[in-house]
Amino acid sequence: MPHLTINVVSAPFRSYVLVSREQIARNFRNVRSVVGPHVEVACVVKADAYGHGALEVARVLCAEGAKWLAVSSVDEGVQLRGSGIHDARILVMGGFLPYEGDAVVEFDLTPAIHSLAQIRDVDRLAAGSGKPIRYHLKIDSGMGRLGTRASAAEILATLSDTHHARMEGLMTHFASAADYTSPQTATQLAYFHDIWEALRAAGIRVPHLHTSSTNAIGYGRTEGWHSLVRAGHALYGYVSPARGDAPRQRLDVKPALTWKARLLAVKELPEGALVGYGGTFRAPRAMRIGILGAGYADGMFHRLSNRGKVIADGKLTPILGTVSMDLTTIDLSHTTALAAGDEVTLLGTEGECTIDAQQLAKVAGTISYNILCSISARVRRVYV
Ligand SMILES: *Cc1c(COP(=O)(O)O)cnc(C)c1O
Repeated sequence: MPHLTINVVSAPFRSYVLVSREQIARNFRNVRSVVGPHVEVACVVKADAYGHGALEVARVLCAEGAKWLAVSSVDEGVQLRGSGIHDARILVMGGFLPYEGDAVVEFDLTPAIHSLAQIRDVDRLAAGSGKPIRYHLKIDSGMGRLGTRASAAEILATLSDTHHARMEGLMTHFASAADYTSPQTATQLAYFHDIWEALRAAGIRVPHLHTSSTNAIGYGRTEGWHSLVRAGHALYGYVSPARGDAPRQRLDVKPALTWKARLLAVKELPEGALVGYGGTFRAPRAMRIGILGAGYADGMFHRLSNRGKVIADGKLTPILGTVSMDLTTIDLSHTTALAAGDEVTLLGTEGECTIDAQQLAKVAGTISYNILCSISARVRRVYV
């Protein structure tokens, strides 16, 4: 999965990410073309668009014709509305708490609802505000996280005495969509379809059914696509690797983000010198080292200490010693080309080398989502 190479763009920050608007747009177009014209794509921009910047990403997607955005919290939805995102529906996947009800109404957000009691809450909210609030009922089909475990009969009983808010969507979320050694997705889908059938048999019309996020799109679990899918990771260029005997992956998306840090110093170390807190690295020979202006406070995982690599002067080179809060030390013995003020690449492509979030995640003992979301607010976002 090669990175988009962003040529000779440089920004005057110690650590910054370059986000390619065009690559985000291309990824969105690719998701749309894979699901086809009859399936809407809700663009997941929660967690500051997985570190890419929710507002800028939302603007790009809306300009591309996105009709739905999805966020985690009411607060994230309010931020987008307050910044001028008015053309798209905003699904709040984490639902709302009682004190957030007024904001749901005022900012025209569409909450996911996770319990029968909440159907009554949202109905009262609609009655009280005089606004026709639409909500999406989330079914816990087996993930055991958010969503109601109520039976179809219980859901129907609640719907029959709520008349103000309207159920616009029925949704669930898969726990193991990329895992072809597990039957969990089929089990979840069967449970979800049983609920839907029962509602349909009782005359309930639900405009949108949605169950699929990136992995269920990428691996072509078409029976889970319905009329709407929720794509996050794919927009940012990633699909998780599958387990087991998976079908061909259909998405052709590429990372849109390059992460750079500048050298604060370059110097020579004698053989035997220790590097960083705890003296966990000892120079086995005389070495040239570089000290980067980025550390775990910027999102360089502490777990990358003595394990991770960065790209310096076009070559992969190791991180030496422990990653500190604001600094990371790297080996520069392979080059004399870099001096204080020059940049290295933490994530992205430089020369022949690429480091992507999945590779970094493997070394750091985590997942690519975690890497992207951890690039902190201190790291400036630059859009190209
Ligand atoms: C985050 C999230 C998504 C997006 O998942 P990706 O794997 O990033 O596509 C979809 N649905 C729900 C409920 C989520 O929380």
